[in-house]
Amino acid sequence: MNSLHTSLPQIAVLATGGTIAGEAGDAAKTSGYKAGVVGVEKLLDAVPSLSQIARIHAEQVASIDSKDMTPALWATLCTRVNALLGQDDIDGVVITHGTDTLEETAYLLHLTVKSDKPVVLTAAMRPSTALSADGPLNLLNAVTVAAHKGSWKQGVLVAFNNQIHSGRDITKTSTYAVDAFRSPEGGALGWVQDGQVEYQRAVVRPHTLNTPFRIAAELPVVEIVASYAGASRVAIDALVAAGAQGLVIAGTGNGSIHSTMQQAVADAAKQGVAVVRSSRVGSGHVMRNGAAPDDALGSITAGSLNPYKARVLLMLALAAGIAPKDLQSVFDNY
Ligand code: ASP
Repeated sequence: MNSLHTSLPQIAVLATGGTIAGEAGDAAKTSGYKAGVVGVEKLLDAVPSLSQIARIHAEQVASIDSKDMTPALWATLCTRVNALLGQDDIDGVVITHGTDTLEETAYLLHLTVKSDKPVVLTAAMRPSTALSADGPLNLLNAVTVAAHKGSWKQGVLVAFNNQIHSGRDITKTSTYAVDAFRSPEGGALGWVQDGQVEYQRAVVRPHTLNTPFRIAAELPVVEIVASYAGASRVAIDALVAAGAQGLVIAGTGNGSIHSTMQQAVADAAKQGVAVVRSSRVGSGHVMRNGAAPDDALGSITAGSLNPYKARVLLMLALAAGIAPKDLQSVFDNY
């Protein structure tokens, strides 16, 4: 090993599957492929120039289509990330992931990783076998971001399509476009291109070491219910009867809830179920006592978290034993 080599940072690449590890029988195919079948070594082999940026320690943590992500796998992944970051010889972690639930995993890790070192998720919209596959460049950029000193203390990041986003804010906004990811409220944190990394803004809300949240193999049951024209209270009542500890309402507009569902929300809250009002719109924030009387209903507002991210925060807050009276400040804070 020459001296250039030993002076390079060591980055752990943890593979979990997804389209970045997808394979199709035909290079022209960008749908109908099998996600999560290509192993981490083959993903790395597709990017020979990685060896100029970092020494790579590779692990295959899972081989799934991320639509099938589970809290148990989140626990395995987070535990491994925390263990690796605790090693003096590991300078950062890159996680390859499917795009479908990337925004949920990224936010969960943003709140539960306990280190200042960089953690960067990446993914691809096209399978590894596709003409113009986007995975190799995204992987190269993710390792570049993880190896960059400016990526410390930023919480969990996502490197995708030359942009760097916060794990808190990022969301998938297209079924097939290569630029599928956006951070609708604040925008990207910065960019990565041709080995250069530039940050344009910092993450202001607390994350990683500055949260009380810890990963657990089992998380409280929190379900999501949408409001829409003609919605009824049947789903809420059924979920409460089935033992849900929390509900997130994917409300219309400013988190508004169909009048036929509002009493069900109040009844659920009275029974001790934590109910969070979020919006199905895809951007913007939900105002307390704005489109629904939260004080009267006993509901909590999600701020700018979409329903899927609000669910992640509610599960972690309930797992941490945060009292119902303090839940609104959790959503105001994180
Ligand atoms: N279904 C795939 C997954 O989430 C989609 C992707 O990775 O783009 O694993």
